[in-house]
Amino acid sequence: MNTKPIGWEKSSLNEMLQKSEKLIEDTGRYYGLEKLSLKKDNPFRYERAYASLRGALVTARETALHIAASPIVKEIGELCFALYTPEGDSLVVSTGILVHVHTMSEAIKFMIREDYEQDPGINPGDIFLNNDPQTGNVHTTDVQTLIPIFWDDELIGWAGGVTHQVDAGGITPGHDLVAAIQRFDDGMYYTCRKIGSNDAIWKDHMINARRSVRTPLYWELDEKCRLAGNLMIRDAVLEFIKQEGIDYYKKFIREAIEEGRLILQKRVKERLIPGRYRAAAFFDLPLKEEAWQPRAKVNKLTNEPLEIYVKEDGTLSLDFEGCSGPGPNPMNCGIGAMEGGQWVLLTQVLIYGDKVNDGAYFGVQKNYPLGSWCNPGDPYLSYQSPWGNLIPAYTAMMKCISYGLFSRGYREEVIPGYGFTGDAIQGGGIYSSGPLEGDRWALSTFEISGQGLGASAVRDGLDWGYAMWNPESDLGDVETWELFQGGIPYLSRKIKPNTAGHGKYRGGANYAGVAMIANSEDVDFFGARDGLVFHGAGGMHGGYPHSTGYRLIAKNTNMKDIIDKQEEYPIEDADPSNGQFEKLLQADITRKPWASIYPVMLENYDMVHFAMSGGPGYGDPLERKLESVKKDLDEGIYTPDLVFNIYGVVADYDHNKGEWFINQEATEERKKEIRKERKEKSMSFDEFFEYEKSKLTKSELSAPVKLMYSESLGLSEKWRKEFIEFWNLPENFQMEGK
Ligand code: MN
Repeated sequence: MNTKPIGWEKSSLNEMLQKSEKLIEDTGRYYGLEKLSLKKDNPFRYERAYASLRGALVTARETALHIAASPIVKEIGELCFALYTPEGDSLVVSTGILVHVHTMSEAIKFMIREDYEQDPGINPGDIFLNNDPQTGNVHTTDVQTLIPIFWDDELIGWAGGVTHQVDAGGITPGHDLVAAIQRFDDGMYYTCRKIGSNDAIWKDHMINARRSVRTPLYWELDEKCRLAGNLMIRDAVLEFIKQEGIDYYKKFIREAIEEGRLILQKRVKERLIPGRYRAAAFFDLPLKEEAWQPRAKVNKLTNEPLEIYVKEDGTLSLDFEGCSGPGPNPMNCGIGAMEGGQWVLLTQVLIYGDKVNDGAYFGVQKNYPLGSWCNPGDPYLSYQSPWGNLIPAYTAMMKCISYGLFSRGYREEVIPGYGFTGDAIQGGGIYSSGPLEGDRWALSTFEISGQGLGASAVRDGLDWGYAMWNPESDLGDVETWELFQGGIPYLSRKIKPNTAGHGKYRGGANYAGVAMIANSEDVDFFGARDGLVFHGAGGMHGGYPHSTGYRLIAKNTNMKDIIDKQEEYPIEDADPSNGQFEKLLQADITRKPWASIYPVMLENYDMVHFAMSGGPGYGDPLERKLESVKKDLDEGIYTPDLVFNIYGVVADYDHNKGEWFINQEATEERKKEIRKERKEKSMSFDEFFEYEKSKLTKSELSAPVKLMYSESLGLSEKWRKEFIEFWNLPENFQMEGK
């Protein structure tokens, strides 16, 4: 038991946290700061101070990632570090998977509120581990290491690091488990646990942790990676204090965060127009057929409406009122995850390039309605894959902000959304022969961090190069993934046609892979992404959403014969209606229109196809420049039939030259025809309103849509009132036949 408080001026950490929160509440400013005195008195010293701490964190990350064995961490850098105030507010961050910076803040605050200072104690050299979504994390797969930093007897801050694991010991192998429906399926839970002292991880913890996951090597080295980075940060902070003095440090950490808050306000005023912005996003959970557990057998469509107020003083408010409910599925999302997702996107669209810290978090008010998927209030649900709902939901924020940016004239900044960072094909197996016989391999391809970004209002979206949760996205090399998922070698990685959302400026495109099971037994396979509906808020100003995913698996194939005879085998699924799989294989081929599947068992020579996501488009496709359409055809981004149907472009392939030629005259005619078709098919607003309303009143909606509306109507009085007023429905309206 500690008797002497470790906070400043003989106060406890809890008292410090309460004081800090009261100052924000009373003044609206971080720590009640009225001016940035250090910055004003000596801007060079202040900026140097920030840059030196920032440099120390980036260095810590770049060094520590070499300790990790997991290719997710090592190859594409799924880790980040941050430095926090004693109360747990981040003041400076490293590069990397920044979604986690604010999540660790919540974990520190949990320990302070639970009075860890008294029990189990917070001492120099202590090490804490957290992966509980109820205490600030996203999912159990993200594991956080936190250490306190002391100067003399006072706690002056925290260093935190987080990595995404290959496996966290859940109901099935993998890191974003589709089959988890309750807390007990999610894998190991470490709820802000002390796991070490005197800078060393306790042996009993490591013995337990190694036995709790399927990939103990990666777990152990990842723990060492996070601890090493944290220790480097602690050293750098102590060195900083030796140079600048403790008084400077104590003032500096307050000012840096208040400056972060002011920067957000300034950017909002400069780039957006005050007012109310709204967008809606959706995610499909086709679990009626997929789920094993009887109560999970429900087909759901998640409602993810968002309302943003941009205020005249440059602050923002985000309101998720109307979101549908949680359920026996892994896509339930805690507040920590919502905060993390929001924060990382703000750093990309409004506060990039300057002080990136929790100042931005304090500049935004938010409402996550209790009892909805984004704040279920039930720790016993599964939170294993909250990304399923979170990723689509925040496309609505991108779209709302894009309307503001467009209105202010920042057309190049517009991003109507992004590809779904999904189809993380997952699972694993055991090598059945060779030098690794009996060893487990894990399928954990992290190509998902290279998705298509939405188009802007002046150019096409970025191809295969964006992840909403990691501003440093990188899809990684096939060879690296094969090193640890050796039981499922790639047969190809190729551009997948027609993934990019159409538009005057098209969304980012993407690719697909084909892989085959080899030299293995006991193989589980599953995956998840948007399938039956477009995820997210779609395109903008006439642009289309990107294409949705689907599932293609071939079992009982004749690949052994094909390989023996050196014959042709499928390397793509460019045209699913005339597929290579069907043409070249003798096999039991399964095609599902949805992409999220529960695990299936695969055997050697079974094959899978998996496609990454494109991004949404911007503007009317008929306005796309013809040379851009030709380039799309030449590069295999689109197929000629879609170009004809959507862009109104008639093109012929010149086999001798190996390129496409656009028939100008026929194209003019085709565009005229499309415009005529549009006129004929279109209806007036009044007609459209009545047509849509009749679906509600005549109960013509599908079961998942009815369930979605009835949940939203039941969970939010505010949303219900607006829904009923808009559609002019009777006060006692109920969604029938849900
Ligand atoms: Mn993660």
